[in-house]
Amino acid sequence: MPEKTIFKRIIDREIPAKIVFEDEQCLAFEDIHPEAPVHVLLIPKREIASVDAITEADAPLIGHLLAVMPTIAAKYGLTDGYRVVANCGRDAGQEVMHLHFHLLGGRRLTWPPG
Ligand code: 5GP
Repeated sequence: MPEKTIFKRIIDREIPAKIVFEDEQCLAFEDIHPEAPVHVLLIPKREIASVDAITEADAPLIGHLLAVMPTIAAKYGLTDGYRVVANCGRDAGQEVMHLHFHLLGGRRLTWPPG
């Protein structure tokens, strides 16, 4: 049995997280090392390793994740905007091999990222 990712352990409530949104398909919680005043991670409960592992069959789930984003942003009052980021693979610095979208906001974000 492969070792659970840290995010799967959060889904299974084996380790704590500050959960800000949950439904039957997904979970959102605050990042433990925030890079902005608001830094939330939104993950599917179904295990998909990365953007690169997404298939056409996942399209409804991925669409749902993006559709949930405005609800989370509204909870934090991000009326001036925010950024949604998915790091994919080594060159992008992906650390946790469970698909996740970063929602960053609460300050003016620079572009391009490093
Ligand atoms: P990645 O680099 O894979 O795109 O992002 C992984 C993110 O997960 C990082 O921003 C990191 O701070 C966050 N993270 C890693 N471990 C934990 C944890 O145990 N709890 C929470 N809430 N966030 C974590």
